[in-house]
Amino acid sequence: KAPDAAGQPVARVAFDVQAVRRDFPILAERVNGKPLVWFDNAATTQKPQAVIDRLAYFYAHENSNIHRAAHELAARATDAYEGARDTVARFLGAKSAQEIVFVRGATEAINLVANTYGRQHIGEGDEIVVSLLEHHANIVPWQQLAAATGAKIRVIPVDDSGQILLEEYAKLLNPRTKLVALTQVSNALGTVTPVREIVALAHGVGARVLVDGAQAVSHFRVNVQALDADFYVFSGHKVFAPTGIGALYGKLELLESLPPWQGGGNMIADVTFEKTTYQGAPARFEAGTGNIADAVGLGAAIDYLERIGFDAAGRYEHDLLRYATHGLQTVPGLRLIGTARDKASVLSFVLAGYRTEEVGAALNREGIAVRSGHHCAQPILRRFGLEATVRPSLAFYNTCEEVDLLVATLHRLARGQR
Ligand code: PLP
Repeated sequence: KAPDAAGQPVARVAFDVQAVRRDFPILAERVNGKPLVWFDNAATTQKPQAVIDRLAYFYAHENSNIHRAAHELAARATDAYEGARDTVARFLGAKSAQEIVFVRGATEAINLVANTYGRQHIGEGDEIVVSLLEHHANIVPWQQLAAATGAKIRVIPVDDSGQILLEEYAKLLNPRTKLVALTQVSNALGTVTPVREIVALAHGVGARVLVDGAQAVSHFRVNVQALDADFYVFSGHKVFAPTGIGALYGKLELLESLPPWQGGGNMIADVTFEKTTYQGAPARFEAGTGNIADAVGLGAAIDYLERIGFDAAGRYEHDLLRYATHGLQTVPGLRLIGTARDKASVLSFVLAGYRTEEVGAALNREGIAVRSGHHCAQPILRRFGLEATVRPSLAFYNTCEEVDLLVATLHRLARGQR
């Protein structure tokens, strides 16, 4: 059963959710005697067997450090690692694999840009524009940079639906704007922001744009060239890949112009005590031994998405979001936070008479995993007068039946049956 665009369950042949579910062994787990319902996809996604197998294969047949040693396993590991870089480049629509830097995740990628582009180009009196929707990972590094350089942070406000106000954004831009750092999908509300317009306006005043794609890449196809993003960041673990690996995309000429951040092995061309020279991008930004196996796992996760039909999966999930939105709106006393027209995956709400952690605990008793709390996005929740919400978040392996269970449990709570 899949929902149609009006939120009604219908049969759909293009995407076989039950077949896909069998690819994710953890979805067969039981929690409190009930089948697990994984609605915490915005925090992290589950891993298909193909990714688990790829990690095991790497350690069983290819494990070595990369680049340095001239032996068979070093060649296998290097091929696997660089192959994964090619895959990420294709996934993001980058011009070349040289534009992809492997990092620990979105957080590290943003810190890398703050400490390279930021240190080189942002000084006293310059301005960094972020939106009210940002995750703390796309706020705190800019605050740290501003504190160190004397730059200022300007914040794009949002309307009551949780969509950013483009006219207000345009007013914030001026020749002192050096960087706009914006999320593509809000992790707290699910708002999909108008990135293309944001980038075009920023470029109009000569500012660079960093797009935080942490909540975007698992839900729809992204093309960094079509967006004309200068930097684009995401975390592997939110796109069915292992933890501890992610990617920073940067336009090649921009990356090549930046100083390194961390120093050490792998990132140098030549070292003497008098003068050290550095590799080009991306090696310049990958000091030390990286997360080789998990990078290979990230490549396997992207290959898996292509195999199951990423576009069909995305359409299915989007229909499921409409179905779930409709279901939640039938619950008395439930206030949905974030009602923008363009949304992905996330349903944030509060329920009258309950603290958010009480709702989370009640759902957990039914086997349903959701996050309750501030979702590392306190400014946007406070915009709506809240410190916390309950946040179910969907992936393409979720089903109408799971949504029905969520909605039925919330109806029971709304009737006062704890
Ligand atoms: N940006 C957004 C929008 C996020 O949702 C998250 C994680 O929740 C991050 C950045 C940080 O990602 P990570 O903790 O994987 O570095």
